[in-house]
Amino acid sequence: MPVRLVIFGRQGAGKGTQCLELSSHYGAPHISTGDMLRAAAAEGTPLGLEAKAIMEQGGLLPDEVILGVVEERLAQPDVEESGFLLDGFPRTVPQAEALVAKVDIDIAIDLSVPEDVVRERMLGRAREDDTPEAIDKRLALYAAETVPVIDFFDGLDLLVVVDGLGSPGEVTARLVAAIDERLAERA
Ligand code: AMP
Repeated sequence: MPVRLVIFGRQGAGKGTQCLELSSHYGAPHISTGDMLRAAAAEGTPLGLEAKAIMEQGGLLPDEVILGVVEERLAQPDVEESGFLLDGFPRTVPQAEALVAKVDIDIAIDLSVPEDVVRERMLGRAREDDTPEAIDKRLALYAAETVPVIDFFDGLDLLVVVDGLGSPGEVTARLVAAIDERLAERA
């Protein structure tokens, strides 16, 4: 049975790792809009060129552009068969509204890790763009952008908050338990 889920989490919350685990556990494609846009930018397609400029400024693509990209991806046969794990989309309330108007979502997950913990993790990683200022900016942007979208799914009774603290294996087990519970309710 297809599983259709959306996952939210701050940068540094372990979302990337968990998406890979969940994608293989449920056999559902991991659809990351950020990955798709970076691939398009590397290929130099018209979308990629537009995305590159916006990504470099830390902005968001216009809703209608990203909606076109996502709609096209969700129309692929693997999605019909196995569902999807959406990562990085929706980022705005209009994107979320457009999504739920098109497809039934089983569960929206907020992979929750306190701000001070993700800040420490990102500083520990010490990538070039992980300066304390850049990290604070991304955390503030997440709060401003994503929290209203999370609230939107909460309002639809689709949201489950999963504690992202602990070993990757522990977190995966928690996520699978939360998703399975929701799928059982749906069945
Ligand atoms: P991410 O890897 O998810 O952080 O995405 C990288 C960049 O791609 C973001 O900073 C945005 O510029 C763009 N992007 C990804 N997903 C979306 C989206 N749903 N809406 C608008 N822009 C997006």
